[in-house]
Amino acid sequence: MIEKGRESLYHDYLEIIDLFRSYLRRKTKTEKNQRYQKQGNNAGEENSRVLLGNLYRSIKSCQKCSLHKLRNNLVFGAGNPDTELMLIGEAPGREEDFQGRPFVGAAGRLLTEALERIGLSRADVYIANILKCRPPGNRNPQPEEIEVCFPYLERQIEIIKPKLICTMGNFASQLLLKTSQGITHIRGKIQCYKENTSVIPIFHPAACIYKPGWGRNFLEDLMMVRDELGKRNNSKKIV
Ligand code: SF4
Repeated sequence: MIEKGRESLYHDYLEIIDLFRSYLRRKTKTEKNQRYQKQGNNAGEENSRVLLGNLYRSIKSCQKCSLHKLRNNLVFGAGNPDTELMLIGEAPGREEDFQGRPFVGAAGRLLTEALERIGLSRADVYIANILKCRPPGNRNPQPEEIEVCFPYLERQIEIIKPKLICTMGNFASQLLLKTSQGITHIRGKIQCYKENTSVIPIFHPAACIYKPGWGRNFLEDLMMVRDELGKRNNSKKIV
C-alpha cells in the first residue's frame, strides 16, 4: 500500500515536471514571437535559429587565435535557440573537440543529470563556452584568446536573449560579471548582466567531479535557477 502510494507520488512528480517544461517552452516561444513581431519581424522563433546558423557559418573556419591549429572541431554551442536559460562554460575539452559539441564528457554527463533533477533537459537550454576551440592539455584560456573569441559568445547571447545565464566556474563568471572575485564567493548570487538578463554563477561541473562535496552546492544553485525562472514566469515553485 505504502509502495503504491510512493509510486503514485512519483508519477505525479514526473507529470508536474513535464507540465513545467512544456509551460516554459510555450511561454518562451510566445514571448519571443511577440518581441520579434513588435520589431516588425514575422520570422519569430525561426529567427534566432537562423541567426545562430549564420553566425556559426561565419566563424567555423576562424583563425583569429592560435587555437585553430590544434582543433579537430570548433565547438560553437548547442541547445534551444529560444531558451530562457543559457549555461556558459570555459572552453571545450578533449571529448568536446572530437565531437564538436559542448559538455559531452564526464562534466557534461554530470550537468545533464543535474538539469534532469531540476526538471529540465539539454533540449530546454542553450550551452556554450567562452572559447570555441580547445586549449592544448585543457590549460586555462589566455587573455589574448578571450579577447578575440568572446565577441562570438556576446553575439550568441544577443541573439538568444536569455532571461538567465548560468556562468559555470571562475572564468565565465569573472568575465561576464567583470569581477575578480572567485566562484566560491559569488556562486548562487543573482546579478545583473544586461537589461532583462541576469547571471547566476555556479560551480563548473568538472570541479564537482574533483571536489564531490561541491556537487550538493551545484544542485542547490541549479534549483535556485529553476525557481528564479519559475518566478519570472509567474509559475509555481514545483518542489
Ligand atoms: S578559439 Fe575562438 S578566436 Fe580562437 S580560433 Fe577558435 S573560434 Fe577563433
